[in-house]
This record gives sequence, C-alpha cells and structure tokens, in this order.
Amino acid sequence: MDPKQTFVIVGASLAGAAAAQVLREEGFDGQIVLIGSEPNRPYERPPLSKGLLLGTAPLEDVFVHPSDWYAWNDIDLRLATTVTSIDRAARVVVCDDGRRVGYDRLLLTTGSEPRRLTVPGAGLDGVVYLRRLEDCELLKIEIDRASRVAIIGGGWIGLEVAAAARAAGREVAVIETAELPLLRVLGREVAQIYADLHHAHGVRLLLGAQVVGLTGDGLVTGVELADGSAVPADLVVVGIGITPVVALAADAGLDVTGGVLVDEHLCTADPAVFAAGDVANAYHPTLRRRLRVEHWENARRQGAIAAKAMLGQDATFDRLPYFFSDQYDLGMEYVGYVEPGEADQVVFRGEVRRHEFIAFWLAGGRVLAGMNVNVWDVVGDIEDLIASARTVDPARLADPSIPLAAV
Ligand SMILES: Cc1cc2nc3c(=O)[nH]c(=O)nc-3n(C[C@H](O)[C@H](O)[C@H](O)COP(=O)(O)OP(=O)(O)OC[C@H]3O[C@@H](n4cnc5c(N)ncnc54)[C@H](O)[C@@H]3O)c2cc1C
Repeated sequence: MDPKQTFVIVGASLAGAAAAQVLREEGFDGQIVLIGSEPNRPYERPPLSKGLLLGTAPLEDVFVHPSDWYAWNDIDLRLATTVTSIDRAARVVVCDDGRRVGYDRLLLTTGSEPRRLTVPGAGLDGVVYLRRLEDCELLKIEIDRASRVAIIGGGWIGLEVAAAARAAGREVAVIETAELPLLRVLGREVAQIYADLHHAHGVRLLLGAQVVGLTGDGLVTGVELADGSAVPADLVVVGIGITPVVALAADAGLDVTGGVLVDEHLCTADPAVFAAGDVANAYHPTLRRRLRVEHWENARRQGAIAAKAMLGQDATFDRLPYFFSDQYDLGMEYVGYVEPGEADQVVFRGEVRRHEFIAFWLAGGRVLAGMNVNVWDVVGDIEDLIASARTVDPARLADPSIPLAAV
C-alpha cells in the first residue's frame, strides 16, 4: 500500500471511528482524515435515551475513543466541519470551511437524522427531538422542567424516553398511530408485552391515534388528535423515525435508493467510494436482499468491514442484524431479520410474565429471529439456529430444559 494514500471518512460517527481504528489496526500508514459536522468527537448514541438521560451513566462513557486517541493514531479529526460536496472525478471533498481534501478512498458514514413533525404547532418551544448529545442534554433539562410529557411515536426511542420520564416522576403519554407500540418490528405477541410493560409503569398509551396539531402560545400546551381529543403536555418528544443522510451522495451522482447503495463489501458503484452504518443500504449475502439497518452494532461492524474493503481485502459484511434496548427493568437483545408479516409462528421459551424469556419468530418451521429478554449469553446460539436454516420442533424450542444447541 502506498504510504502516501489518503482515506477520507465523512461522518465522525460510530461507524466512522470504527473504520479509522481498523484502518490503523490493519497497518494502513497513509493519511486518515475523519470529518464530522458535530462539535463532539465520535460517540455512541444508545446512552442518550438510557443511562445518560437517566443520569446513571457518566458523559465520558459515551465516547468511542479517549480524546487523545486520535492524535496518538495520527488521525486528522476535523470536528464542526461539514462536507458540502464530493467531486468524484477529481477525488476531492469540499468542506464548509472552504478546505478541499483529496482522497484515494472515501467512506461515507453520514448516518441518519430524525424525521420532522410537520403538523401546525410543530415549531413551538418544548417540542424536542433526540439524536445528538446536545439534544440529550436539552431533553434532561426539559424533563426536569415539565410535568406532563407527550411522546409522539411508540418506537424504541419514544419508549425509552417514556421510561426515563417515568423514572423522573413525570406524567407520560405515548401517542402511536399503530394499534400497538413496536407492532411493525415485533409483531402483535411481543409488541403487547411492551404495551403491558409501559402500562404497568403508569404510561398512558394512546394507540391508533393520529396527531393533527400541537397547541400552545410560545410554549407547547398539548397535542391535538384526529378524533378531536387533546393530550395536555408541556413537553413533547418526537420520535417518529429517521431518514438516512444521503444528500451528499445523491449530489455526487451515487445511487441513494433507500440509502447509499452498496454491495456486500460496502462499496458503491464507484470503486473509490464506500458507505457504512445507518446510511448504507447494503446487499446482505445470506439474507439475499438489501438492508439498511439503523442500529449500533451494524454501524460498528460495518465501519470495520468497510475499512478492510477500502484496503483491498476481501471483506464481506454478512452479520445478521442485532440490536438491544433497555426499558425499566426489561433488557433485551434481538438478532435476525423478519419482514413484517413474514413470520407465521412466535414461540416463547421461559417466563414471559416474569420478563425472563426468549421469543423466536419462525416461518415454515425455521427460526428467522430471536429476542432474549433478561436472559443473557444466548445470542450466539440464536444466531446458529438462524444460520442453520433447519426446521425445528416448536415444542423443543419452547422447552428451556433442552439446550438451544440441541433443539
Ligand atoms: C437516542 C438514540 C438511542 C439509540 N439506542 C440504540 C440502542 O439501544 N440499540 C441500538 O442498536 N441502536 C441504538 N441507536 C441507533 C444507533 O445509535 C445508530 O444506529 C448509530 O448511531 C448509527 O451510527 P452511524 O455511524 O451510522 O451514524 P450516526 O450516529 O448517525 O452519525 C453520523 C454522523 O455524520 C455526521 N455527518 C452527516 N453528514 C455530514 C457531512 N456532510 N459532513 C460531515 N459530517 C456529517 C453527522 O453529524 C453525525 O455526527 C440509538 C440512536 C439514538 C439516536
């Protein structure tokens, strides 16, 4: 490898930092330029809706690397800097500070951003989103100030914020368009467990509800629903999903259908340009379909694979999607992939009522995904079951006395 090569990473994110680390670990001794819009060095976002928001985790724990790690590893970290365009013919990125940086390989880890609410009143004070570190700091202050919190969107972030606001003793309402929170991801049986969990913790769940406007004069005072009812609130948290940050790639002429389109080596149609993390819509060789995954583990592992692929190694990203969530005393990990409506059976193993169980989603007797709830060190076994693609006996799968490996 030519030591004078320059690899540029756009997005000082988890995927970007993971890629920089693996480039050095693999012996790349050229220049690494890691450029990020945010003022903070790369950090992990999961604590923003959990420990950091609850005040149980220290700020220092969120950062991917210690502050001196970048200098020690000769990584040119440029924070508070946005790349505004890519000239692929000249292999140059242009930054908002006017600087131009040439590259031999370019990695896009621009991630995603919250979908915005567009109803009347969406711009009122006290209407907040949660993506960045400063959003978390603001939300903490807002939860302290507020007495009634309305959360629009019963997805992972909405529900984790609901748990944090309940822990702070606030009145909490979650407003969700579907019949159950997390219905699309988990299906009815398991989504109901989350609904019951929040109900038991005093959260008011407004399901099948459509938000038509927010009321207030300066500060928000409530949420108006399509059925004419109103939800009083002096803090509204919006968690209605995210969209990949693809404008830069699109303007550079790259295909951004459903995210920046990449192959199993995380390479775009341009052999010098790669993408990883939330922004990448990658071909998954074992699932034989494209997937854009919006999770921590995916960003970390794809960053590493992209780094190897940029070095010309035969690195393929073929990990099954994995994610985790913590709400109240319910911690879980989920591995696998199920298209909405694809599973024809859900099998439970363990004590569902005590929140100590594994749920498996099956289609035609084969395990597609598993979710372990307050049961640990089983992800590898669940992955093996999925990867084996064999049909299993649901009765044996449900029997905790039979080791998963022997089902
Ligand atoms: C509150 C919260 C809680 C979460 N909890 C979980 C969880 O429990 N479990 C889980 O699996 N996942 C969780 N996630 C999801 C996980 O954090 C994301 O999947 C992960 O952060 C994606 O990382 P990334 O590296 O792809 O991009 P991002 O983290 O989105 O970072 C992209 C970075 O690129 C920068 N950028 C964008 N465009 C430019 C540009 N043109 N120039 C320079 N910089 C640019 C952005 O400013 C940003 O800093 C959570 C996310 C949030 C917000």
